[in-house]
Parts: sequence; C-alpha cells; structure tokens
Amino acid sequence: MFWDKKTECLSRNEMTHIQETHLKKTTKYVFENVAFYKQKFEKAGLHPDDIKGLEDIARLPFTTKSDLRDNYPYGMCAVPPSHIVRVHASSGTTGKPTPVFYTAQDLENWVNCVTRNCCMAGIRQIDVCQIAFRYTLFTGAFGHHLGAERIGATVIPTSSGQTERQIMMMQDFGTTVLHCTPSYAITIAERIREMGINKNDLSLRLGIHGAEPMSEELRTEIEERLGITALRDYGMTELGGPGTSIECLEKNGYHINEDFFYPEIIDPDTCEPLPDGQTGELVFTLLQKEAMPLIRYRSRDITYLESEPCGCGRTLVRHGPIIGRSDDMLIVGGVNFFPSQLECVMLGFEEIEPHYVIRLKKKNRLDHVLVEVETASDFWTNAPKEKIAELVQEMERKVKNIIGFRMEINIVEPFTIPRSEGKAQRVVDERREK
Ligand code: ADP
Ligand code: ZN
Repeated sequence: MFWDKKTECLSRNEMTHIQETHLKKTTKYVFENVAFYKQKFEKAGLHPDDIKGLEDIARLPFTTKSDLRDNYPYGMCAVPPSHIVRVHASSGTTGKPTPVFYTAQDLENWVNCVTRNCCMAGIRQIDVCQIAFRYTLFTGAFGHHLGAERIGATVIPTSSGQTERQIMMMQDFGTTVLHCTPSYAITIAERIREMGINKNDLSLRLGIHGAEPMSEELRTEIEERLGITALRDYGMTELGGPGTSIECLEKNGYHINEDFFYPEIIDPDTCEPLPDGQTGELVFTLLQKEAMPLIRYRSRDITYLESEPCGCGRTLVRHGPIIGRSDDMLIVGGVNFFPSQLECVMLGFEEIEPHYVIRLKKKNRLDHVLVEVETASDFWTNAPKEKIAELVQEMERKVKNIIGFRMEINIVEPFTIPRSEGKAQRVVDERREK
C-alpha cells in the first residue's frame, strides 16, 4: 500500500533532482533567515551559491544538539514566532529538552510523511489504531495520530500507562494496530497474560514500535506474545518526530522519506562521509522545513545506508537498524559495546525475559558490569538451583565470546525490574559514585 506512490518509487535521477533543488533553496533560506547559519557559513568561507549539487553537501557545516541548546529558545528559527503553529520538545534522554517548531506548511508535510509511513506499514481505513506513546511535548504520539487519522483509520489516543485500561480498550474497540515503544509492548503483553486474556481473543495484528532500539530477538518476543507483525519506526524530535523512516513489511531496513530528509553516514570521529553499507553516524539535512530547517544535523544514531532495490517496490533509500546512539555506547575496560548487542545475546536464551538492567560498577578500581535479568516465572519457581547456576554460566560464557569481556550475570526474581511505559532505562552507571 502506498500513500504517494509516485514519490516513493522515483528513479534515482528524479529523486536527486528534487533533493538538489531543495538543498539549494534551503541553503539560501537558512543563510538569509538564521543568524546562526549565516555566521557558520561565513566562518567556513562559504556562500549558498557554492552549493550547486548534492556532491557539495560535504562542504556544509554540521549542526549538533548543543547548537540547538545554545540557541534556545528561538535562535534556530527561520520564521518569526507568530508563524509557528506548534511546538514540541525532546524527551531529554541526554539532558535538557530541545524544542522543535512547525509552521502550518511544516505540519502538513509532517502529516504527509507519517501517512506515507503508516501506509507502508499496511495501516488501512478499517484499522483501529491505539496510540500508546505518551501525549506530551514528545512528538511520537502526535505524529502517529496524524498519520493514522489521515488514512481514515479509527484513532484511540490512549497515551501510555494505565496498562489495564489500555487492554480493556483493545478488547472493547477491537484495536488492530498498537503504536508504542517496544519496551511498553512487552509490558502490555505481560499484563495481558497476567489478566488471563488469550491473545487470540484480541484483534491486534500490527505493532509500530519506535523511540528506542528493538533487536530482532525483542521483535520476535513481541510478535509471539501479541500475535502480531512488529515493525520498527524511527524518529527524532529535532527532525520533527516520526515520519523520517519506517520499515516496510519486508523488514529489511527503514525507508527514508528522502525528499524531506537527506541522509548521510559519517565517521563520528573524523566526520568524513562514508559510502553505502558502512556503519557510522546518521546525519540528516532537512530539505523542506520552514520553521526550523537543519543542515547536516548529527543524530548520534549509529547505522548504515542501503540503496539496493526493496521487495516492496519503493526506491526510497533505507537505513539499517539503529544499533545505539554514539553517546549510548558503553566503554568498559576499553571495550565498546551497545546495550542492544547484549540484549541480542541474552534473549537468545529461551528462559530469559526481556527485562534487564545493566549496572556499571567499579571493582578494585576496575570497570565491572553487572547485568540483572529476569527469567520466566515457571523457570524461577521450578528450576533447581543448579539449573539456574548453569544458565548463568552459559550466558556469561556467551556474552564474553560475543562482546569480548566478562560481565557478571545475576538472575533476579520475576517482576523486580521496573516495567517501562515509554523509553526503558536500561543502564545505571554507578562508577562515579564510588
Ligand atoms: P531524546 O531521546 O534525545 O530526548 P527523542 O525523544 O526525540 O530525543 O528521541 C530520539 C532518539 O530516540 C533517536 O535519536 C534514537 O536514538 C532513538 N530512537 C528513535 N527511534 C528509534 C528506533 N526505531 N530504533 C532505535 N532508536 C530509536
Ligand atoms: Zn521496502
């Protein structure tokens, strides 16, 4: 299903033409309307006329989250505040919230992008979409809401939390599509089981999950527990929220709405652009924004680009799974790893539940990682002590093999790790306190 088949299936030449036209326009627009960019361009000895095509993009300066913070509140705006019709702000995973602004045209473009994405995921007019992302300053809920509504589906804005009420709504209104974070999907699935409800008595068929990584292993858990197809959705407040990219039903990467979001991958250390297929930091230039256009915005998210044809027929370039944020990367005893890598290893064990906390500690002045993880209740209650010890040993061995150093695994009593209703807090750094 397509919302805008013509654009989603353009030839590479046609897409490049659109991107170049908008890149030139946006470069001139920010130079003339955002003092921050005028100064940056001048400092780099650059004039908008120097940007003649996509190959010149590497000459443009980057924009970072701290630039947005330094220019709080309206410094990055290209329009007077009276032209702004909506404000959202980031959930602040890494510090102070950062705002994003929309003109009426920006909102319309946002609806267009999220509607394309909802169609790509297979949402139809007959669907009942339950939006269990939190309705706050955060963009997630509002974005999904707009897309599903434009398709003509029934939208139930439950927001996150009050899980039993969520489930009651699912039963009473025959919810077919659940929009929420992957960790909240697991929380909901668990409560459905506790309430003695059979997943087959619900009408759920599709889950759209974003705002945090969902490993393949976690996807399988969600799909099995809820009896649905689970797709990954990517978005970021600074880019305007959901609508940037989503997986199609082929599940082989997220298609990017590249007529609005021009993607690049760079080496996060040298800032050099990397070719397709190589892993690095995702950078976006917002090609059609009026209120807050961003040039080469460094997302901090780590992935790769893939432009091979996709089975769904779309020609929109794809990015791979987000393996983590470069600022989420844990460095322990000199070894780098992302929590999502550890999740893949642990969920490979069928006794293990997707509830875990990674505690970074100091032991004899050395970094030490303690992972607390839950098992299924029956295993915890029925397995003999030796069996649990064996499981721990086996997990520690596998983690060491795959991640490269030893972590201590501690199996804890079921339901002792706090359940997530939004983005899960998986890492606790206790190293500084000692
Ligand atoms: P912040 O968390 O920085 O306050 P947002 O709430 O806007 O900002 O969250 C955006 C971030 O959430 C992204 O940069 C990315 O790290 C993470 N994110 C969003 N969607 C996904 C996804 N599908 N997979 C992994 N991470 C995601
Ligand atoms: Zn596809």
